[in-house]
Amino acid sequence: MERETEDRGGKPRVVIAGGGVAGLEAMLALHDLAGERLDVRLHSPRAEFLYRPLAVTEPFGTGEVLRFDLGQLAERCGASFQLDGVVAVDGDARRVRRRDGAEAPYDHLLVASGAKALRAVPGSTVFWGVSDDGGFAEIVRRLRAGELHRVVFTMPSRSGWPFPVYELALQSAAELASAGVEGSMLTIVTPEEAPLQLFGVRASEQVRRLLAERGVELVTGAHPVKFEDGELETAPGDPIEADAVVSTPRLEGRRIEGVPHDAEGFIPIDDHGRVLGTEHVFAAGDVTAFPVKQGGIAAQQADAAAETIASLAGAEVEPRPFEPVLRGELLTGDEPRFLSGTPTGGHGDDSAMTRHALWASPGKIVGRYLAPFLASIAEIDLGVPDPGRAEPLRLDLGDG
Ligand SMILES: Cc1cc2nc3c(=O)[nH]c(=O)nc-3n(C[C@H](O)[C@H](O)[C@H](O)COP(=O)(O)OP(=O)(O)OC[C@H]3O[C@@H](n4cnc5c(N)ncnc54)[C@H](O)[C@@H]3O)c2cc1C
Repeated sequence: MERETEDRGGKPRVVIAGGGVAGLEAMLALHDLAGERLDVRLHSPRAEFLYRPLAVTEPFGTGEVLRFDLGQLAERCGASFQLDGVVAVDGDARRVRRRDGAEAPYDHLLVASGAKALRAVPGSTVFWGVSDDGGFAEIVRRLRAGELHRVVFTMPSRSGWPFPVYELALQSAAELASAGVEGSMLTIVTPEEAPLQLFGVRASEQVRRLLAERGVELVTGAHPVKFEDGELETAPGDPIEADAVVSTPRLEGRRIEGVPHDAEGFIPIDDHGRVLGTEHVFAAGDVTAFPVKQGGIAAQQADAAAETIASLAGAEVEPRPFEPVLRGELLTGDEPRFLSGTPTGGHGDDSAMTRHALWASPGKIVGRYLAPFLASIAEIDLGVPDPGRAEPLRLDLGDG
């Protein structure tokens, strides 16, 4: 078996398993906080970072998932990039094993391998978020042509990121209005007790009003079971008639052998991102057992883990615990809305929906380091779709 033996100047080695939001935020934070003290290597089975929030604009032709070259992003942070996934961890020997069988040592490991998406509601059209097979785009086309009378948008569980369901429904309503189609009914069926309830009571009430203004019907407290013979079975509740049902996927943690996880593959961590029951192993993002799967939350967890790792490496930083704050930009088909709140909900003062962001960070994924970094590279707005842009966008970072 190949073993990595090269001398990296005696610096503590940090292995980051994952080139998504959490992995990149951690890489940027470590670069800022510990700079030259650490030898950082980013591992990912994909060569690109996918900026997924704009996937909800693709079927409407107003935007698309952005792609960034991971090797170039790592280079900008003085880190190295390994195009391969981590499949196993030996915590005693502090080594990771890659998919190609090679092993590499670490002093600190951050698992940021994200969640895998699984089909959840039989009979429905799944909105995968990336590599969409065109199923939902076809529904938009048929809605515009007046061929569908009732379309249901749903999500399999409350844990996950509920925005896409609301964004697809609101954008579809705007599409119907602009096409002058009348008589079509759009319905959101959600297991939540109130719309986007994780943002708190005030924001949720504002979302409820927005849906009503746009003519989107809302059924709360209902789990979608299956779509068959023109009916969506729900539990509890009566079946709902529909011509088409669009569902987001169910999420499971991407398991890595040797890293503790629960029955759904999610990793339990403490407030500083340490994986419970391990040493020198951290985790952040969708792969953790924290119930909200969101880019902003992934970035906050990555910052907490990076601060702890940097402090262990001798950097002058006081590690702060992860205290989740939710911020989201909701695409509505015209003016976006900005929601903030804490995942515990309630009437807290920070629960609000506004027409302008109450925070400075650019884009739909709010990360202390990642958002300004990507905005500076892309030189485009990472949040608001651009209806004028028809050509696919691939971001080549060049040399600079
Ligand atoms: C349609 C859609 C819209 C969304 N909208 C928003 C939004 O508006 N705002 C927001 O904040 N969030 C949004 N999200 C959620 C957000 O994209 C995720 O929460 C976020 O990407 C999670 O980051 P992550 O780093 O944990 O996982 P990911 O970003 O999924 O990254 C996981 C990485 O790990 C890599 N990997 C997989 N297996 C391995 C392995 N074995 N070893 C090493 N690497 C591995 C993957 O290739 C990938 O690079 C949206 C998601 C979707 C699907």
